Formats: sequence, C-alpha cells, structure tokens
Amino acid sequence: MSNAIDTVVVDGLALANELRDELKQAVARHVAAGRRAPQLAVVLVGDDPASASYIKGKQRACTRVGMDSSERRLPADSTPEQVLATVRELNQDDSIDGILVQLPLPGDLDANLITAAIDPAKDVDGLHPVNAGKLLLGQPALTACTPLGIMEILRRFEIPLRGADAVVIGRSNIVGKPVSLLLQQQHATVTMCHSRTTDLEQRCRHADVIVAAVGVPKLVKGSWVKPGAAVIDVGVTVVDGVLTGDVDTEGVQGVAKIVTPHRRGVGPMTITMLLQNTLTAYEARTGA
Ligand code: NAP
Repeated sequence: MSNAIDTVVVDGLALANELRDELKQAVARHVAAGRRAPQLAVVLVGDDPASASYIKGKQRACTRVGMDSSERRLPADSTPEQVLATVRELNQDDSIDGILVQLPLPGDLDANLITAAIDPAKDVDGLHPVNAGKLLLGQPALTACTPLGIMEILRRFEIPLRGADAVVIGRSNIVGKPVSLLLQQQHATVTMCHSRTTDLEQRCRHADVIVAAVGVPKLVKGSWVKPGAAVIDVGVTVVDGVLTGDVDTEGVQGVAKIVTPHRRGVGPMTITMLLQNTLTAYEARTGA
C-alpha cells in the first residue's frame, strides 16, 4: 500500500469565479440601493502588447462583476509630468475608486515616482508607500493583489498558519515582502529567501508552507517538499514558448497537500483581488 498523499491541484480559476460571484452580488446590492457602481481606472503608457492584453483582461473582469472601468492611454514617449498629470486628474475624479498604472513603464519613467502620486485611498495595487507602510505596521491597508490571492487560497483550503513554518522564496515589493508580512500576521514563522540564500533546499524541507515567487523554472523540486506541505507557485516564465512555474508540479504530486499550478493557479486570484480592492476602496471612500 502506498503512503503517497493525495495532492490537491488548486483550481485557481474555479476559486476566482466563486469569489467573483460574491463580488458581483456585493456590487449589485450597492446599485440596487441607488448608488453608482465602483469604478477602476487603468493607465497604460506605451503600446506593449502584453500590458495592453493584461489591462483588457482586468477591464473584462470589472465588467463581469458589474463594476465600471475606464482607460487612459499615453504614448510611450510621455514625460513623467504627463503621466503624473493623468494620475492627479484621476485622483481628483470622485467617480473613480481605484487607479492602476500598468507596470512596467516604458523608457526612463520611474515607477516609484508614479506610484507614489496615486491617492493611497485609490491605490488598488497596494504599492503606494503609505499602504506598504500600513501593512508593515499591521494597520488596515489596500494590499498587493497577488499576496492577497495567495492568502485567500490558503484560507479556502484551511491550511493552518498559526505556528506553521513558512518559506517565501523571493523578496520583491509586489509579492515576496507583502506575502511574508501577511503570513506573519497569521502567526506563521516566516523565512524570507532570495538569490543569496544558502541552503534553500534545506529550508524548504522544513516548511509547512512554501511560496515560490522567483521566476526560475521548476526551482522547487518534489524532494524539497515536506510531506503534507502547501506549495504556492507564483512564478511565470516562458521557456521555449511554454509557460513554466517555479515549482516542479509533477514532482510534488503525492508529497504536497496542495499545490497551485502555474496555469489557472495564482493568476486568476490576482485579478480577483484587484476587483476586491476596488470594492474595498469604493466602500471606504463612499462610506457605503
Ligand atoms: P522579482 O521582482 O524579479 O523578484 C524575484 C525574486 O526572486 C528576487 O527576490 C530574487 O532574489 C529571487 N531569486 C532569483 N533567483 C533566485 C534563486 N535562484 N533562488 C532564490 N531566490 C531567487 O519577481 P516578482 O515580481 O516577485 O515575480 C516573481 C515571479 O512571479 C515572476 O515569474 C513573475 O512573473 C511571477 N508573478 C506572477 C504573478 C501572478 O499573478 N501569477 C504575479 C506577480 C508575479 P534577489 O532579491 O536577491 O534578487
């Protein structure tokens, strides 16, 4: 008889659809009460096809839950002043609840400068220094979408976090740092790893939860994973035209309790959390 664990491959799309239904109902309740729908404004600088496709996906997601969305396009050779002027205009517009500047920005445009110009109350990407600072201090804040999506997956699958050992691989501002703080808020003991970490394999072997947000294909092998651990694969890399994650998904089968696949895993949850943040910003701004 085999002792292998029946690993659950998380269907992030199904989970995202469940959450989107809940968001749709919440939006419908506001509209039925005579209030306007929440509105997300996306700013696209330049004509990078991948960025254009991402913002189309985000706008489509808004429409599906009954939210409004609007788009501002600026040429790739825009000056910082032009981008800042657009952001300030959106800050002033009372009908806009969330502002998302699609990253990366072209040329020499400084993403930190532009992000810092967004009204923190409308910062649905959760990257403004005020929101990042509040997260650090454990205060309510708009928080980066991918970390929120990861926490929602762990919550829905009832992964125990209190006292758990969590290893986060990657220390970016958008994934690694915020998810480490969120895990710590839930009383996990978090080890943050990065490119200079020694003994990554050994650290992973002791972890109850592994979050891999690196961008190195199949970095986390099945042999690195403690039986029964939850493994969250955030990485997305294209290798020879094929989308690949940071985790050897096949290798962790029979070892991990749950694993998110690189397709239909964390990605759909990220967009859903953007909608959730837009609703949160709307409710906070309107007092509804
Ligand atoms: P990033 O800013 O490039 O950060 C990557 C991190 O990985 C860095 O902290 C880096 O360490 C660390 N790292 C690099 N090589 C390593 C190695 N061999 N061992 C251990 N750590 C290593 O990336 P990101 O923006 O956080 O994104 C990470 C991945 O997630 C990317 O593939 C991205 O496409 C994907 N992603 C997916 C979603 C989604 O919704 N599915 C959302 C966001 C990102 P140093 O700090 O030492 O350089």
